[in-house]
Amino acid sequence: MSGGLDSMLAAKVLEKQGVAVTPLCFESWFFSCTGARKAAVAIGMELRVENFSDAHLAVVKNPCHGRGGAANPCIDCHLLMLQTAKKIMEAEGYDIIATGEVVGQRSMSQNRQSLDVIEREAGLAGILLRPLSARLLPETEAEKKGLADRSRLCGISGRSRDQQLALAKELGIAYIPQPGGGCILTEADYGQKLAQLAQICPNYEGLDAQILRFGRPFWEGSALFVVARNQEECQSLSDRVKTGDLLFEPVNFSGPAVLARKFGGKIAKAEIESSGRKYLFQYSKKTPANPEISVKIIGQIEKSGQKG
Ligand code: SF4
Repeated sequence: MSGGLDSMLAAKVLEKQGVAVTPLCFESWFFSCTGARKAAVAIGMELRVENFSDAHLAVVKNPCHGRGGAANPCIDCHLLMLQTAKKIMEAEGYDIIATGEVVGQRSMSQNRQSLDVIEREAGLAGILLRPLSARLLPETEAEKKGLADRSRLCGISGRSRDQQLALAKELGIAYIPQPGGGCILTEADYGQKLAQLAQICPNYEGLDAQILRFGRPFWEGSALFVVARNQEECQSLSDRVKTGDLLFEPVNFSGPAVLARKFGGKIAKAEIESSGRKYLFQYSKKTPANPEISVKIIGQIEKSGQKG
């Protein structure tokens, strides 16, 4: 369950047939289950959350089936979700795995060829049920065994949401989430930041990828400086400090928090420009995050001739 309308409908279509449904959502360094939690509440089901951050990060770094328009490895990502779901199915005795996929809806991961590749490679050929497009696809084992009634499944395809909206009305679903374009990996700007990180540090970790989501990144050789743009980002950066980082938080003048992270080598000093202001930092004082590292904030600000 992604939290989008299609996955809500798929779950409800099955439930209406008398199938006991457990919505399953995946969490990683790049996406959370916030939307899925809302969606599950809206359809009166209890969400199960599975964190597969490390396995997903490996797929983001080396996708076997390539990427979409940005860093998004959608086919491998779907594949990983289904492989993980299959393990759960086998370990816990579920009968069916179903998704909200709709044939022809997305160019990369939901065209007919991709659906076949994903199904086959996940070891789910003939098992995976797509309730919204089932009548356009070959009959699955679940349908043959009578676990799902094919005549009450749907034959939806394409990008229009008209049929889904009509079905939502029929099923009494009042909460209609806005169509999402995918996770942050589909954003071109983030994709470029991640590609630069991968070039400098191919073995980057999840927290390294995450800090690129907040603030503006500046590279100084192999040192990364991320400058927060608002209070929320200051908090997000300070929540993601790891051993060896330097977190600059100006105390006697107003300015952004800056997180500095080394990927080899040592940062001696850095000059950072943000919103037309120039901040100069140099180590000399201890920080709570790094009691062994010295940091001094020189705090020189240049704007309209002022210095502070
Ligand atoms: S948009 Fe993101 S979450 Fe969705 S399949 Fe692609 S990589 Fe995975």
